[in-house]
Amino acid sequence: MTTLFISDLHLEESRPDITGAFLDFVKARAMGIDALYILGDFFEAWIGDDEHTPLQETVAAALSEVKASGTAIYFMHGNRDFLIGEDYCNRAGAVLLDDPSVVEIYGTSYLLMHGDSLCTADVEYQKFRANMRNPQWQQMMLQRPLEDRKQMARQLREISMAKNQGKEESIMDVTPEEVVRELEAHGVQNMIHGHTHRPAEHDLMANGAPARRIVLGDWHENVWWLEAEPDQKPILKKYPL
Ligand code: MN
Repeated sequence: MTTLFISDLHLEESRPDITGAFLDFVKARAMGIDALYILGDFFEAWIGDDEHTPLQETVAAALSEVKASGTAIYFMHGNRDFLIGEDYCNRAGAVLLDDPSVVEIYGTSYLLMHGDSLCTADVEYQKFRANMRNPQWQQMMLQRPLEDRKQMARQLREISMAKNQGKEESIMDVTPEEVVRELEAHGVQNMIHGHTHRPAEHDLMANGAPARRIVLGDWHENVWWLEAEPDQKPILKKYPL
């Protein structure tokens, strides 16, 4: 019995090595297990389920094989791919999870998040996030022609890169108080998230008791995942891409 967690692959056409590593990874490790959780920024960009690029279709086909093997697949949105919708999830055999979500894995409750909402020191980004997650804005956006959306996505990416360059490292990381607040709001002791590209396990206190925050790694240089099995602590694992 195994459950795997991954995030921040940032799949894109210009990195076929990451796509290849993902296809190998699921074939070797995700077939016939309990569940595969993908906690956001799976794709580097997403402008609507109607795009149907070869990359998107290859990945959906691989995931539907994983699903057919008996593995449950869950997607959570990241800040890059928050427009992934039910249509693509159906093609990939995945269930869309809210951010945040509490799930029980082998008797332990975990708060799952992408992680960007925890970075509250970045006030400018949080404002931007609130706009992007507005359902009315999203509906309006998705009705625009594909070419318009491609153009907008390119612009947003350039703006985001330019803005992040001037930001301090601490602003780009999670706010410790926000982590505690979320754990206490949900009454759980364990959190798993990605987004920051700082894979690690952190011990802290929440709800007046020891708590733990596990940060998943990005796939820029390494294949990172978290492996959970019954009766043991989940383990962060990696190998070079
Ligand atoms: Mn992210």
